Amino acid sequence: MQRELNEKCAVVGIFDHPEASKLAYFSLHSLQHRGQEACGISSADGIKVHTIKDRGLVSQVFTDEKIKTLKGTSAIGHNRYSTAGDDSILDAQPVFARYDLGEMAIVHNGNLTNAKEVRDRLIKRGAIFQTFMDTENLIHLIAKSEERKLLDRIIDAVKKIEGAYSLVFLSRTKMFAMRDPYGLRPLSLGKVGNGYIVASETCAFDLVGAEFIRDVEPGELLVFEEGKEPKSIKIFEPTPKHCIFEYVYFARPDSDVFGQNVYQMRKNMGRKLAYIDPIEADMIVPVPDGGVPAAIGYSQESGIPYELGIMRNHYIGRTFIEPTQQMRDLKVKMKLSPITSLIKGKKLIVVDDSIVRGTTSKRIVKMLKEAGAAEVHMRISSPPTTDPCYYGIDTPDKENLIAANMSNQEMCDFMGADSLAYLSHDALLESVNAVDSQYCTACFTGKYLY
Ligand code: AMP
Ligand code: SF4
Repeated sequence: MQRELNEKCAVVGIFDHPEASKLAYFSLHSLQHRGQEACGISSADGIKVHTIKDRGLVSQVFTDEKIKTLKGTSAIGHNRYSTAGDDSILDAQPVFARYDLGEMAIVHNGNLTNAKEVRDRLIKRGAIFQTFMDTENLIHLIAKSEERKLLDRIIDAVKKIEGAYSLVFLSRTKMFAMRDPYGLRPLSLGKVGNGYIVASETCAFDLVGAEFIRDVEPGELLVFEEGKEPKSIKIFEPTPKHCIFEYVYFARPDSDVFGQNVYQMRKNMGRKLAYIDPIEADMIVPVPDGGVPAAIGYSQESGIPYELGIMRNHYIGRTFIEPTQQMRDLKVKMKLSPITSLIKGKKLIVVDDSIVRGTTSKRIVKMLKEAGAAEVHMRISSPPTTDPCYYGIDTPDKENLIAANMSNQEMCDFMGADSLAYLSHDALLESVNAVDSQYCTACFTGKYLY
C-alpha cells in the first residue's frame, strides 16, 4: 500500500449564515486539537470564492480584519495536522481552484488510499500538480469530468477515489458535504440560525450555538442550496467502519462522535481496564490530558483515589511528531512535571490513552521514580499500537512503533515501570458499545480495510 502525505485534520462548513466566515473561525478554534500546523477559510459571496490560509494556529492566522475580507454567507474551513518535514504553505487547505464552471474550494479530513494511482493517471492526461496533497486529485477529477453540472462532477470524482474522507466543497453559490462509505472520519450536521453547519466534531456546534441534527451518513452526499433543506444523496451503500482511535485519543471529550460521547467512551475504557486487571495501589494518576477520562473511570471502578500527580504545561504544543528523538525527549520534559509531595513513597497506577514510540511513558516513569514514587504501574486504555494508520491519523511507520518491536516485558523494562498492561481489543470494543464490526481497529490488529 502506498503511503501518501496524510491529511489528518478538521473540517467545517457553514451555509446560509450572515456571519459565515466568523462562525467558521470559531469552529476551527474549537477543533484546534485536530491540527495545529496550518489553517484556512474560504468563503463564497455568490460571485467569488475568497480564501485565506497560512501556517500557524487559528488565532495566529486570522484577525478581525482578515475575517471581514472573507465575505459571503457560506464558508468552509480546515485545520491541518503537522507531519515531520511537510510544512509547506502549499499543503494548507482549503484547496482553491478556478475551472470551467467557475470557482471552487475543498477541505478534506482523511487519507485517500489510491491517491498515487489516481494522480499518475491524471498526470498522464496532462494534469499539473502544485502540492503533494491527495486532496488536489479531487480538484483535477472535478475539472476534467465530462459531466456538465458540479453536483454530477463531484459524484463522478468521489466514485474514483478510495480511502477515508470527510469532505466539504464550496462553490460560489452551493456547498456539498460527503463522507466515505466506511464513515472512517467523523462529520456531523447541525442547524445554526437559519442556516446549516457541518463539522468534524460536535464541540464546534456548542461554541457557535448550533443545534446537532445528525451525523452525515457513511456514503452520503449532502447538497446545500439557498432557501432549501439540505438534499441527501446516497452515493454508496454505507458499510460503517468508524475509526476507533477517535474515541481513544483524537476527538475532544466534549464531542459526540459516531453517536456517542467521547468522554463517556474513555471512562468506559478506564473502567474496563480496572475490572480486567485489578491491582492494588495508593492512587490513580492520569497522564494529562489524554489519560484523564480513563483514569477517572479506573478510579471509580477500583475505588482507588484519583489524584493529579502530573501537571501539564499547556503552552507547549503536542510532543508526538518531532524530527529527532532528542527533541521529543526534551519536549516531554518541558510539558509534564510531577507533584513530588503527593507521590513520594506512593504506589501509583499511571493511566495513558496510548503508547506510540514509548517516549512519553519512559519519560513519565523516570520522572515519577526520580520524584520518589515507590512503584509505577503503567496502564494503557487501548490495545498495543502495532500498525500504522493509512486512513488519516498520523502514526509513525511500524519500525518506530514500540509495541510492534518489543514484547510486553521488553517495553516494561524499556520504560522502567514495575508493570505494564493494555486494554484488550475485545474490551476496547465493549467499551464503545460496538456491535458487529462497525469500527476500524487496524492500528491495533494490522487488519486493514483495503
Ligand atoms: P509516544 O510518546 O510516542 O509513545 O506517544 C504517546 C503519547 O502520544 C500518548 O500520551 C498519547 O496521548 C499521544 N498520542 C497517541 N497517538 C497520537 C497521535 N496520533 N498524534 C499525537 N499524539 C498521539
Ligand atoms: Fe483509526 Fe486506527 Fe483505523 Fe487509522 S487504523 S482509521 S487510527 S482505527
